[in-house]
Amino acid sequence: MKISGVRFVRVRGTWDYQGPLGEERLVRPVDIYPEFRAQAGPGPRPAGGGPPYHMQALFLYIDTNAGVSGVFGPIGDENARIIAGQLAPILIGEDPHAIERLWDKMYRHAIHGRKGPTMMAISNVDLALWDLKGKLLNVPVYQLLGGPSRDKIRVYASMLGYSIAPELAAQRAREVVAQGYTATKWFFRHDPTEGEEGVRQNLALIRAVREAVGPDVEIMFDAWSSWDVPYTIRMAELAKPYRPWWFEEPVLADMIPQYAEIRRNVRGIAIAGGEHEYTRWGIKALLDAGAVDILQPDPTWAGGLSEMVKICALASAYGIPVIPHHGGLASTHLIASQAITTCPMQEWLLQYGLTGNVFLKHKIQPANGYIALPTAPGLSMELDEAAIESQEEVTFG
Ligand SMILES: [Mg+2]
Repeated sequence: MKISGVRFVRVRGTWDYQGPLGEERLVRPVDIYPEFRAQAGPGPRPAGGGPPYHMQALFLYIDTNAGVSGVFGPIGDENARIIAGQLAPILIGEDPHAIERLWDKMYRHAIHGRKGPTMMAISNVDLALWDLKGKLLNVPVYQLLGGPSRDKIRVYASMLGYSIAPELAAQRAREVVAQGYTATKWFFRHDPTEGEEGVRQNLALIRAVREAVGPDVEIMFDAWSSWDVPYTIRMAELAKPYRPWWFEEPVLADMIPQYAEIRRNVRGIAIAGGEHEYTRWGIKALLDAGAVDILQPDPTWAGGLSEMVKICALASAYGIPVIPHHGGLASTHLIASQAITTCPMQEWLLQYGLTGNVFLKHKIQPANGYIALPTAPGLSMELDEAAIESQEEVTFG
């Protein structure tokens, strides 16, 4: 069997979603510059307004001469450009079963692409190849990788896009607990350049969420690379009475010794990171430095499932759990293939997750704090024809 083509399909449709969307964004490292701090985006709110929202999404297809295609999406246009220009010529004519060989060829070819968009593009190809293999063998991908390790996956409610005004945050936190979630993550909006007022507002968010959910629900907070060492240590001291499970990405991803310094100095709050790290080599540097208590690489960015199973093996040898950054169905299949100690739970971004669901037939639908294992073959990548109002094949030259 040979790979006969690589193509991209753009689908369009309407999303009639009535809930809150893009009320707030997270703090970003670039917010130290006032012209950036003033910006509202990026958020999950589609251009053009709504509801209903006019949605579009791009899907990657890897075709074979057997008439079966592997699918992955939604993917970004930037990734598609890299796939079309750099990766497709490596794939055409190859045996699609040979995923290790293809990953290694793409990696060795993309010598400047070890991190960032090129690795994201390699991840997209890897995931489409796993989808293809699962469809050819008529089994879900987690079975090919050694699963299922459990019959449902614990999921936490990740609240990006929701207001962090304390009363509103408390109301939404109570809502997700009522829906059955046993853990919820919130996103800070303030960094060290905002002084005591920023400290007070970050702390007000932590307090509001803890008081809303009660003592038994786990609460986590994400600083998205925007803090520094002393600020993180101070916020951890102030937050201790409210028992957060973890602080996520307190400093820039490249500041690995500083991660380790924070981890040595903070007791009782785990330090999570690795969302913006790539491949087994990037993750090994975090592990060797003792930088994190919890690893969060994203299967759709860090190298695909081929790389994530290596990352999970490495992490398990260090006793560090992997709780992937979002990753949708790719994360579900990965987690379902790994021991519960290696991958204990999945992140579900309530707003972004729903936007990713729009055109998929097999949607991720957490119920009572868990995600049921998918049963469809492959990565469960099938388009929902009923949701598609128009579609076109697009080329990236
Ligand atoms: Mg994060």
